[in-house]
Amino acid sequence: MTCSILVSAMKLCRFNAGRLGLMHGDVVFDVTPALDVLPAVRYPLPQCDLLIAHLSAVCAAVRQLLATAPRVALSSVSLLSPVANPPKIIGAPINYRAHIDESVKDAGIAHGRAVTSIHDWGLFLKSPSSLIGFGEEIVLRRPDRRNDHECELAVVIGKRCDRVPRAEALQYVAGYAIGLDMTLRGPEFQCWRKSVDTYSVLGPWLVTADEVPDPDALELSLHVNGELRQRSNTRQQVVDVAGLIEMASAMYALLPGDIIMTGTPAGVGPVKPGDVIHASVQGIGDASVTVGAHYA
Ligand code: MN
Repeated sequence: MTCSILVSAMKLCRFNAGRLGLMHGDVVFDVTPALDVLPAVRYPLPQCDLLIAHLSAVCAAVRQLLATAPRVALSSVSLLSPVANPPKIIGAPINYRAHIDESVKDAGIAHGRAVTSIHDWGLFLKSPSSLIGFGEEIVLRRPDRRNDHECELAVVIGKRCDRVPRAEALQYVAGYAIGLDMTLRGPEFQCWRKSVDTYSVLGPWLVTADEVPDPDALELSLHVNGELRQRSNTRQQVVDVAGLIEMASAMYALLPGDIIMTGTPAGVGPVKPGDVIHASVQGIGDASVTVGAHYA
């Protein structure tokens, strides 16, 4: 391959023991030395993901390395979350009309909460320590209860921003990925039920924002063990990507590496140990993640 096709848009992955890769089809270029451009940090650590905060410098270093970078097969690597240290993982509740409808019909989803509007509910936070990549395993902590998949477009913030009007919002996006907002159903608050270790899956890689001209027109789907469970398009979102950035940043500053999971379409449903979840978002890619054995 020539390097010229990679002048701007990139798919960056993290794999194995903290290595950095550039995706090209089924091949991963190991560009780990590009991480040497990151500044050495000391306590107290900056509130950001360092790689995302310095993404343009990293991408420039990646380009320098491509000609000589070792190549490994995608099938031979274990993918980590492309964002290692998100300051926040933000969730968008009831952000697709058809998911609102199913949440009204199926008492097992909302557990008696009045399913009104994202504008009434606001956004929620998931613990950053819940984050894994597609090469890791989802582990059910309460297998006695319903644990659902939610397939979502995930937005990674690239630059600090605060009180952003929607017209400027997409300028602050570093890139996009698939997000799985795994959810323990029940009466408790979202921050409790959605923060279980391994219940935020991000990946399979980060697609830089310049490769996704319109994040509000992407097909997305999710299969469990080959059975189609969710299929929609991000244009069905109640609040679009720019609107979610406006909404979130009205309440708190957004920091490099913050992740916004933009909400799930209809078709949410339970998973059990041994299930294989396959998720796809147009323009980003597709990948499988396994539900491992539950906690003993
Ligand atoms: Mn969700």
